[in-house]
Amino acid sequence: MPPDERSIIHVDMDAFYASVEQLDHPELRGLPVIVGGLGPRGVVSTCSYEARPFGVRSAMPTAQARRLCPDGIYLWPRMARYEDASAQVFEVFHEVTPMVEGLSLDEAFLDVTASLRLLGSIEAIGRRIKDAILERTQLVASVGMGPNKLLAKLAGELSKPDGFRRITAAHAARELAPLPVGRLWTVGKVTEEALHRIGVRTIGELAACDTVRLTRALGRQASVIQALARGEDNREVEPDQAEQSIGAEHTFDTDLAELAMAESWLLRHCERIAARARQRGLTGRTVTVKLREPPFVTYTRQARLQVPSASASDIYDVARRLLQGWWRSQRKPRLRLLGASLSGFEGRRQQDLFEATSSTPASDDVQDRINSRFGSGSLVRAGVLRTRERD
Ligand SMILES: [Mg+2]
Repeated sequence: MPPDERSIIHVDMDAFYASVEQLDHPELRGLPVIVGGLGPRGVVSTCSYEARPFGVRSAMPTAQARRLCPDGIYLWPRMARYEDASAQVFEVFHEVTPMVEGLSLDEAFLDVTASLRLLGSIEAIGRRIKDAILERTQLVASVGMGPNKLLAKLAGELSKPDGFRRITAAHAARELAPLPVGRLWTVGKVTEEALHRIGVRTIGELAACDTVRLTRALGRQASVIQALARGEDNREVEPDQAEQSIGAEHTFDTDLAELAMAESWLLRHCERIAARARQRGLTGRTVTVKLREPPFVTYTRQARLQVPSASASDIYDVARRLLQGWWRSQRKPRLRLLGASLSGFEGRRQQDLFEATSSTPASDDVQDRINSRFGSGSLVRAGVLRTRERD
């Protein structure tokens, strides 16, 4: 398929984590909501559109956001809830094409070229995705459409929030020309500065720049970047690969020196990992625990389960033994970071009710629902509590 005949859709949820919080807590609607790490080393994950006029941006240190927007509502992320909403969004994608390349929980490229005959025009498919996401999650997605990844993503970004826009190959040059070179997807800071040094500031100037001069400034990547500036992009949508491992980890603001505390964090990680494995229909055999002693010495410990599992208690039983073993081997155990992961997947489990119940204890499914409603770690299994009390 020639690249300019493809139909690519880019979907990105608007202020995803903050929008979920405003959905679940109506009293936060209309207010600047900032979701991120709230400790001294914390960073903003997402902020609502109401926070943006204050200059708050994602990836900014939370301390800086607090100076810019002291009256904002600051919240810790509730990953289990966001993953739940994300699963619903990705379900919509897979209803229109198997060619889905996820970039994050709330952003993906879809190649819908082969779906056009069945589902109609690219706009019809884009509208269907946007409407279905709103109906099922009550959250707003921005949808960009184009003949390639570059233009689809740009169309979405230019029309955000509540975006819906298509850029065709014929109009690409006109749309791109006035934009600053930094807006060109995959042009990083270093390239941007190199272009500024030779006086190239807009994408139009980049497209028109003498190739020899550009090659002197950028090296071998010059021709690829100049093609992007003309709106040409051959990169394929690469459907998501089966995951190699599912993990969770946390860096502590204050180093952990108590085994019981470390165990409760480990339990929380194992619950998240198990929930994500079940969402994807996977069972894994290998459990890995990652332990970082301050400042930067990292240990990993690994063990195998008797049978592949997606049960939080199975994973935690093994992970906890690994943690305890490491703890006893240290003279003065302290942790800066603790993580866990599950790997060695047996492939996608049949979505068969009987198999699902035989390999996943029913209590885990109940727990998934409770955790996604109240945030991960809100329900601690009675059996785990009992084991802990014996220590
Ligand atoms: Mg987003």
